[in-house]
Amino acid sequence: MQDDLIELDKRYYIHPVINYHAHEKRGATIIKSGDGAYLTDIEGNTLLDAFSGLWCVNTGYGHESIVEAAQEQMRTLPYATGYFHFASEPAIKLAAKLVEITPSSLQHVFFSMGGSDAVDSAIRFIVHYFNSLGKPTKKQFISIERGYHGSSSQGAGLTALPVFHNNFDLPLPNQHKIACPYSYRLAHGDDADAVITESVAALKSKVDEIGVDNVAAFFCEPIIGSGGVIVPPKGWLKAMQECCNELGILFVVDEVITGFGRTGTMFASEAEDVQPDLMTVAKGLTAGYAPMGAVMMSDHVYQTIAGSESNSAPVGHGFTYSAHPVSAAIALEVIRLYEEGGLLENAQKVAPFFEQGLQALLDHPLVGDARSRGLLGALELVCDKQTKAQFDPSLKLPEKISDAAYKNRVIFRSFADGILGFAPALCYREEDFAILFERVKKTLDEVL
Ligand code: PLP
Repeated sequence: MQDDLIELDKRYYIHPVINYHAHEKRGATIIKSGDGAYLTDIEGNTLLDAFSGLWCVNTGYGHESIVEAAQEQMRTLPYATGYFHFASEPAIKLAAKLVEITPSSLQHVFFSMGGSDAVDSAIRFIVHYFNSLGKPTKKQFISIERGYHGSSSQGAGLTALPVFHNNFDLPLPNQHKIACPYSYRLAHGDDADAVITESVAALKSKVDEIGVDNVAAFFCEPIIGSGGVIVPPKGWLKAMQECCNELGILFVVDEVITGFGRTGTMFASEAEDVQPDLMTVAKGLTAGYAPMGAVMMSDHVYQTIAGSESNSAPVGHGFTYSAHPVSAAIALEVIRLYEEGGLLENAQKVAPFFEQGLQALLDHPLVGDARSRGLLGALELVCDKQTKAQFDPSLKLPEKISDAAYKNRVIFRSFADGILGFAPALCYREEDFAILFERVKKTLDEVL
């Protein structure tokens, strides 16, 4: 049975973001079930998931109340379009809930199926906004080196990771990047003010170079996720917002990973006290129990796109599964679990165990840096702690670490440049962290 599945997978299933030939040789790791923070694979091995699936199962697996919410909605109404003035009850309630729990600048919600199409929708709304505003030259977008904003045709260009560009003719000519606030690898990285000042200066200079009349928006993640869990200093996000406001460009915060309790507050924007013009969310919105994302926007952006009341043309953007009622019902229950089910509170309570566990590994000969905020963190491996030199790619260390971790029954993300990413679920207990760090240490010792 297992061999059959592996064979069928190799033959037919195109997986996201892998080397196809390597996969044909290796075959899939097939996960069968999940409970709390633990997964069971098809061979019956129990694994500690320290990555919440793909930074999304923030609640942990197997929440019966989420299953019940989905079942009930499926029985009552499995689908309702949001097109042509139709709506479903959970979609409306969810839109109102999101406005309630996100920064007060965000007053309207458009639903997508995930993060990439939320980012793509944001780009399309921004283009429409500036055309509607009578500023049609404002069409250039700025994002950050190592940033990740999904894999859609336009969003993948805001993403600044080479594999998403190579052979895809990206980035587009209107997509620009500024340097990443990568404290560990900056000469002045210990000086938070200097890191912030440098990012602000880089944004101003990039806008200057392009011409402010041509720049539409700046996109950023509060903590860069897929680019290696790079945690900017506190105050960085606020400074970037102030800079955007000063320059007259839109400030777009991509909270697809950082949202829904991941960094200690419901949203990272809340901790940093920022008021974005637009925000994208997904992942923790439904905790991965069903696909859903959203782009949220200020009243000003919304009203400008809506135009005057005499304008009868529809705004031509939407998807069949925008605001899917089953996903919306799931999201409502997931948010209830964060707020009233104690998950956000637990995440805050256990975050120190996570931070201490990462910091303790700084003693390990391979670990050059340990960084985290809330339950999002990373270890950066180096072959020389003084020079911070990275391991030679020919050693294939990331692959070796992934394989060793799996044998040690723990799952985390082993990035190409020796960064290990962690995103434990908000339901983790103190004892889960003890197991996690024992297994991570064993894994590092084995590849040493
Ligand atoms: N934006 C950020 C910050 C992300 O981390 C991701 C996915 O990891 C996306 C957008 C794209 O989301 P999705 O994979 O749901 O399309």
